[in-house]
Amino acid sequence: MQSYQGFEQGPIRPPSEASSLLLRVTRNCPWNRCTFCSVYKKQKFSLRPVADVIADIDTVHRFTTKLQEGFGSRVESAGNLSPAEWSAFAAARNWLADGMRSIFLQDADSLVIRPENLIAILRHIKMRFPQVERITSYARSESVARISDSQLAEIAASGLNRIHIGMETASDRILQMISKGVSKEIHITAGLKAKTAGIELSEYVLTGIGGREFSRDHAIETADALNCINPDFIRFRTLHLMDSVNLFAGSELSSYQWTSDVVQAEEIQLLLKGLDGITSRVRSDHSYNLLQEIDGNLPDDKPRLIAILQHFIDRPQRERTIFQVGKRTGHFVLMCDMEIPLRREQVEEICRQSGITDETVDEQLHDLIQERMRSGMPY
Ligand code: SF4
Repeated sequence: MQSYQGFEQGPIRPPSEASSLLLRVTRNCPWNRCTFCSVYKKQKFSLRPVADVIADIDTVHRFTTKLQEGFGSRVESAGNLSPAEWSAFAAARNWLADGMRSIFLQDADSLVIRPENLIAILRHIKMRFPQVERITSYARSESVARISDSQLAEIAASGLNRIHIGMETASDRILQMISKGVSKEIHITAGLKAKTAGIELSEYVLTGIGGREFSRDHAIETADALNCINPDFIRFRTLHLMDSVNLFAGSELSSYQWTSDVVQAEEIQLLLKGLDGITSRVRSDHSYNLLQEIDGNLPDDKPRLIAILQHFIDRPQRERTIFQVGKRTGHFVLMCDMEIPLRREQVEEICRQSGITDETVDEQLHDLIQERMRSGMPY
């Protein structure tokens, strides 16, 4: 076994964990076969020894203690920190500034490790940082579904209070085509288990994942699974994919056809209409999503959320074009931003200069996003 390599952090976390300390429990993704996902491609999965994770926790504890005692600048100026210790020191400093209230366990699926090891890590966190209010992680439905109810309850009691599951869709047909490695039934089993254990659950839905052909199937099946689970959060993410990716690699019959913004709005609306008898909070909390104003609690806000989508769908095509371009170029965040005259003029000028018309807007924005993905720019 490799000896301790020092403090480590993985590449990603959910936006809602911006103030959390990131603790790496495993490296990369144990599945790594979803056709739409490039985050860990070519990276080998490995478990980190529990002793290494505990050493990371102790290192951060040592630095936060020094910082709280006012010796932070002495640690920094001593100049004898290794690169790994520097990154632990920076993580400790940022976390302290953010109030040290939450921790996110990385990478893609911390629940894949042996439950007793996860419990040992959680207990050590609680021992070192008793003030921490929230410990969260990404998890695959497959991993959660395999854990016994009693072990999951012990994991929850040891401090894991929220998991983020990439449901993407609950259409079995699409799940198979995108090689997600789970079924609708496994998604439901995992979600119900997490809820029974008392773990707060965020389910992520990927809009556009069915393309034009399976958009309705995606919306209807996903709403049905979410109705069975009643997760605490339903979060929308928009699929942006390089044209070169064979998304439906698991199918010989269908090839993926990307969807326009209006088709995706109709898809989300159909999904929301199908949500029934649940009390989830619905959020569209990513800057890549077109309609970030979708934010409300079910069941009370369901009519309002559906109306937001209808408002976009019903707008004259010219208004939709202006909003789509303004959102994708960073001039608008919400639809009401179109009422700000200067910003609207700037967007109209972009349309004029780039030759974007109502007929070409979808294609041109698709090309713009492709270009930005190729160059690694945010889009
Ligand atoms: S399970 Fe998650 S991290 Fe792993 S390949 Fe699929 S989407 Fe990517």
